[in-house]
Amino acid sequence: MIKAVIIGAAGRMGRTIAKVIQETEGIECVAGVENTGHPSVGNDLGEIAGLGPIGVKITDDLSLVIKEADVLIDFTTPSSSLYNMELASYFNKPMVVGTTGFEEKQREKILEFVKNFPCVLSPNMSLGVNLLFKLVEMVAGILGPGYDVEILEFHHRGKKDAPSGTALRLGYRIAQALGRKFEEVAIYGRKGEVGPRSHGEIGILALRGGDVVGDHTVIFATEGERLELTHRASSRETFARGAVKAALWVVGKPPGLYDMEDVLGLRDRGA
Ligand code: NAP
Repeated sequence: MIKAVIIGAAGRMGRTIAKVIQETEGIECVAGVENTGHPSVGNDLGEIAGLGPIGVKITDDLSLVIKEADVLIDFTTPSSSLYNMELASYFNKPMVVGTTGFEEKQREKILEFVKNFPCVLSPNMSLGVNLLFKLVEMVAGILGPGYDVEILEFHHRGKKDAPSGTALRLGYRIAQALGRKFEEVAIYGRKGEVGPRSHGEIGILALRGGDVVGDHTVIFATEGERLELTHRASSRETFARGAVKAALWVVGKPPGLYDMEDVLGLRDRGA
């Protein structure tokens, strides 16, 4: 039985992951970790997740429970995940990280830490979106530079980072397929006298509102036609099931950085 510790246990994703672990064979949750001062600390994770008591406590100190874990599942914030990865690196614990919004400098640190433990890091753990990553690459490669690319994402009002990690990954993959550098062509929204659209730019727009779990649309537009590819997540369970699948997969893997395409076996498959 694989023993998991959920970090960010009382958050939207943490609670959903606790529920999916309860329903999954071969994995059990042995502790939850929350932010210092969070009202859930000291409580039973099952109660917090709406499952009824399961005899698993929420603590605010990962170092107290890390030795019990076979795998850590972290959906928190970039600074928190980075701290937890440093601990995972010290204790050689496999990890699944779904947190988004890392900055370049933080990414560099992640690459250092993962020399000591296997880590699945992905901005989106759903099968549909990971297929979309491949599809947009294929479509961009076939349509070529004559099509304007725009990316639209829509998330609930509580989301902290913008644009979403998924939208950024979509843009990055499209830019790569078109031989462009994403950082040089990305335009984050438009306002005022921006003039005509420049050739090669990739527009990204982030919408926020209500309880939208996560929608992404990629538009390829040219004169006379446009192609739109849309993924809509209607429940966080799709991400949580992916995270639990990744947790089962990553235990026993050699140290290094992996993503959901490795877990789902999409890496070497032509789209
Ligand atoms: P959320 O509801 O805000 O949950 C995050 C939880 O982490 C909160 O309870 C927060 O506590 C806690 N936290 C913050 N700092 C912590 C620390 N140092 N140690 C332990 N816990 C800490 O957010 P969410 O919607 O679950 O999303 C979490 C992250 O996952 C975001 O980056 C989001 O973009 C990402 N996400 C990824 C996927 C995917 O498939 N990869 C899917 C959905 C979401 P406080 O409330 O006290 O800050």
